[in-house]
Amino acid sequence: MNDCSHDSLTYTSSLLRRWTSAAGATPQPVRQLLAAIADRHAAQLADVFYSTMLSDPEAERFLTQDLVAKRLTHAIRHWIRTLFSSWEPESIPPVIEQQHTLGSVHARIGVRICLVLYAAGILKSALRDILRTADTADSLRIEAWTTAAALIDHAVEAISAHYESATEQGSRDDEAYRIYTATIDPSLERQRQRAAIMDWENAFLRAIMIGSAEEPLGVIGASPFGLWVYHKATAIFDRSDDLRSIFAALRRIDDELLPACQREMDGASVSELRRLIRQVAGEVERVKYLLDAMFERLLHVESGRDALTKLLNRRFLPAILGREIKLCEEQGKSFSVLLIDIDHFKKINDTHGHPAGDNVLCQIGERLSSAVRMGDFVFRYGGEEFLVLCTQTEERQALLTAERIRALIAGEPFDLGNGGMADVTVSIGVSSHDGHPDYQQHVARADQALYRAKNEGRNRVIVA
Ligand code: GH3
Ligand code: MG
Ligand code: MG
Repeated sequence: MNDCSHDSLTYTSSLLRRWTSAAGATPQPVRQLLAAIADRHAAQLADVFYSTMLSDPEAERFLTQDLVAKRLTHAIRHWIRTLFSSWEPESIPPVIEQQHTLGSVHARIGVRICLVLYAAGILKSALRDILRTADTADSLRIEAWTTAAALIDHAVEAISAHYESATEQGSRDDEAYRIYTATIDPSLERQRQRAAIMDWENAFLRAIMIGSAEEPLGVIGASPFGLWVYHKATAIFDRSDDLRSIFAALRRIDDELLPACQREMDGASVSELRRLIRQVAGEVERVKYLLDAMFERLLHVESGRDALTKLLNRRFLPAILGREIKLCEEQGKSFSVLLIDIDHFKKINDTHGHPAGDNVLCQIGERLSSAVRMGDFVFRYGGEEFLVLCTQTEERQALLTAERIRALIAGEPFDLGNGGMADVTVSIGVSSHDGHPDYQQHVARADQALYRAKNEGRNRVIVA
């Protein structure tokens, strides 16, 4: 089975073991020497590091002088200090975590991994130069150098591990989507797999009732359904939690329940056998339920809808806003964006529970859709944030729409779905198209206005 998170977990614990044992074995004088170097020379190391990097055309693309001066020099100093002062077992996991973050960030902005290795090499040689001039015994100098190099190697190892998984995840998402669209019709596939799991269940029941105890029960993992789960569902649904739960259910059936049933087929206790069969049936029901939930989400993603609120999914925002901007340029008509965030939504979840929160989100979606014109677009922008795109709408009219939405939400309590009701308010940031070709810039202005609406007391509309 392809279970990447398990691989990366095993990998991380191996690195942690090696790192902890190397750090633990480092003698006190070496620790002190390295900590002192980090303290005294961190700025010098950072300077050497960046001046070398900046002379490299590949690296230079990522490091503007300004950015280096402001943020990165500080970051590298901090990195060196942390690396050379974390010796105790409990201090090492956070350091590894920090390297993982670095790996993901580098992957996201597209720094090639060979540059990370290059950078590590620069640091090592700069450290060697510093150690050469250190006023200390040769043996200590050599041991400090070896330890420092090993620490940097461990860090680079952790950085590259997450670099890989971040880039792999991106291409796996694309790949999963490609396989999905190329090979299946989701509604048909759902029916087919429901039928396949029931086929296995029927065969299992028949074997129990009329099969012989010597004949092994057919495992679900090797059934057509099991093969589909292991080979195809992993491609379609990638790393969904539901899929993981399905794996666990199949393993429980095959590794625990079937062997127990097999033993009882010859045994005297009919009631024990019945109990086991009921457990198998329970696991099968669970798998069916999870399967349905996964397909349900997939169908919504495919249709561009958010699974909970049925509003447009955020991933269509760039395409739709980009199109509006183009229409604006061609026809000279403005459009507006309303960014809407529920006030103190966390409190609703905390007080009434997550399902009640979900109910509120759905009803907000309904009220928004009812408040806008048919030509407008309503997106679920994030957890409890929504974005309304009002087409052909100038600022003045957008403000009226936003105010209408605010009043509509604040005006009537929401049904929590558990018998209770709750008052809910929203804050809204409004921005109208100012001719800028970048849609993100437009949304950023609405976001700033929203931020002000929050700061000025919530339940209000602010125009950018
Ligand atoms: P503020 O007025 O500053 O916006 O406060 P807030 O509590 O609304 O903001 P915050 O960002 O702290 O909390 C947002 C909460 O929304 C946290 C998160 O658990 C919840 N949330 C996000 N997505 C969902 C969801 O799909 N369902 C539910 N029930 N809650 C969600
Ligand atoms: Mg929010
Ligand atoms: Mg909020």
